[in-house]
Amino acid sequence: MSYQVLARKWRPRNFASLIGQEHVVRALTHALEQNRLHHAYLFTGTRGVGKTTLARILAKALNCETGITATPCGVCSACTEIDSGRFVDLIEIDAATNTGIDNMRELQDNAVYAPTRGRFKVFVIDEVHMLSKQAFNSMLKTFEEPPEHIKFILATTDPQRIPVTVLSRCLQFNLKQMPREAIYEHLGYILQQENTAAEPAALRLIAQAAQGSMRDALSLLDQAIAYAGGRVSEEAVRAMLGAIDQDYLFKLLDALAQQDIKAMLAVADEMESRSLSFDSALQDFATLLHQLALAQSAPDALGQDLPERERILALARQFDAEELQLHYQIALHGRRDLPLAPDEYAGFSMSLMRMLAFRPDQAGAAAVPAPAKKKPEAAAVQDAGAAKPAPGRFGARSDANAVGPAFDGDWPKLANLLKVSGVARQLAQQSELRSFDGESMELGLAYSAKHLAERIYQDKLRAALQGHFGKAVALKIVIGEISGNTAAVQAQTERQARQDKALEAIQGDAFVRELMDSFDATIVGDSVKPT
Ligand SMILES: [Zn+2]
Repeated sequence: MSYQVLARKWRPRNFASLIGQEHVVRALTHALEQNRLHHAYLFTGTRGVGKTTLARILAKALNCETGITATPCGVCSACTEIDSGRFVDLIEIDAATNTGIDNMRELQDNAVYAPTRGRFKVFVIDEVHMLSKQAFNSMLKTFEEPPEHIKFILATTDPQRIPVTVLSRCLQFNLKQMPREAIYEHLGYILQQENTAAEPAALRLIAQAAQGSMRDALSLLDQAIAYAGGRVSEEAVRAMLGAIDQDYLFKLLDALAQQDIKAMLAVADEMESRSLSFDSALQDFATLLHQLALAQSAPDALGQDLPERERILALARQFDAEELQLHYQIALHGRRDLPLAPDEYAGFSMSLMRMLAFRPDQAGAAAVPAPAKKKPEAAAVQDAGAAKPAPGRFGARSDANAVGPAFDGDWPKLANLLKVSGVARQLAQQSELRSFDGESMELGLAYSAKHLAERIYQDKLRAALQGHFGKAVALKIVIGEISGNTAAVQAQTERQARQDKALEAIQGDAFVRELMDSFDATIVGDSVKPT
């Protein structure tokens, strides 16, 4: 039985099922209903918000055999062929890989001919900002006097890099980032349809890691289902994403409220010993501070089903509004400066110390160093700052910076160790090593996982490699066939082996054998879980 990935299976096929883009859908629906068609459309928005999905729905609306419509039938041959990606008059070009002028000439030559099957010949050009200057110029010729039977749908994450001559000829729509809550709800809906159980907290973690991209959310959910091997638990998703246990963050906040730097550094040490990502920690810390601020000023805006709602409300009473604002700023800046810090631990603990060292100005405008009288712990800050480095950590770090740890070629092992989280972690775990000479690393990634190779995730992985090796590593990701020597495949194999062993043990059990023999019973394999 072939498994269809969720992102494809649940790809919206009509305007009504598109999540979170109501403003665009309304405008397009009106235009289609009143037959006010433009010859070029431009969809802008960050990655994974549904630009190409929307392009395909629009292509169906234009070519459905029932007529130009805002509600394409979904069953005619035009609709079904567009859905399955084999409609001859829908030409999809990925400008990220076809940047050249030759592709545009080809397009121009092709554009002259009338559509073969449909009403319109639809050209979808994804990541159109990647086209070369000549390619844009060549495209303009078709743009200036477009044949009646041509429609262009351009999509981009970066509209500023599109020449104004092209922009001015397009009807532009800006797609919004998906709110975390909408992603969370959609994941819940899909799992219900798929008859797969999940803990709400697990889905919240995925919705957060997806950073506004439904596509990322669905591919993470796919991974989570495979990883958990059934019920999607919070624990499994946390392990899969390398997500920070909220408990650490609450402990930090408790200590911050008590102005207890020793306790804060103890938590940081514990996180360090568990190889948690301090980048994720600062991000999650900022998220939590935001929730505390909400709890103070607009408690209703805080999700009613938020698991830690009570804890957040209680903590919110221990801080001033201005303090929270300042801590939030420090967390953001700390995260921004993390790549510049001597090492991640230093960057993180420095941010924590800064939260104690500064207090909001009485006027509320600027941060000033905390007056010593208000904070007897000021001494403790120095004390901790000076005394702490001794026990090995900084020593070990500076050694690492000097030579960099040796790499034995076991990429799956390293992929598990690297301090990355979320989608970037998936990128590490699903790729395999092609080559590494100590300076540049080439990783192979299966075509089916190509979406993991987005620039931002590559950047995060590169930063983690730099953190690990103590020097910059040039990273190249090659999409194509892979042999399967990845951390993800290894983990899957190990789980399967454990499962087989558990099943074997059950089958070997004398009592179970007797049951099977006497009652002609069989074992339901899926119901056996290794302990
Ligand atoms: Zn149709």
